[in-house]
Amino acid sequence: MKPVLSSPERRKSRVRRLCIWCETHIQAGQRYCHWLDKDADGDIVAMTAHEECHAAADRELEWFGPDGITWDEMHTRGMTRAETMGDPA
Ligand SMILES: [Zn+2]
Repeated sequence: MKPVLSSPERRKSRVRRLCIWCETHIQAGQRYCHWLDKDADGDIVAMTAHEECHAAADRELEWFGPDGITWDEMHTRGMTRAETMGDPA
């Protein structure tokens, strides 16, 4: 199963959460994206990210395909890996 990046639910956070993309907090009251994905073991995991971070992951999906998304790399909030590293896209 491929990441379901294209259909996140947009929610308003009631508690502080961690963004899986930039690893900074999504504060209570902020809007964020929530979607489900499968981890390496095939278990369903809930993913939460800032709206702009989800958009950055979506750009990577568009450029590199589902296997090219840099989930495990470091990202500046709202930026792709290449943008974080200062590479011209
Ligand atoms: Zn983020």
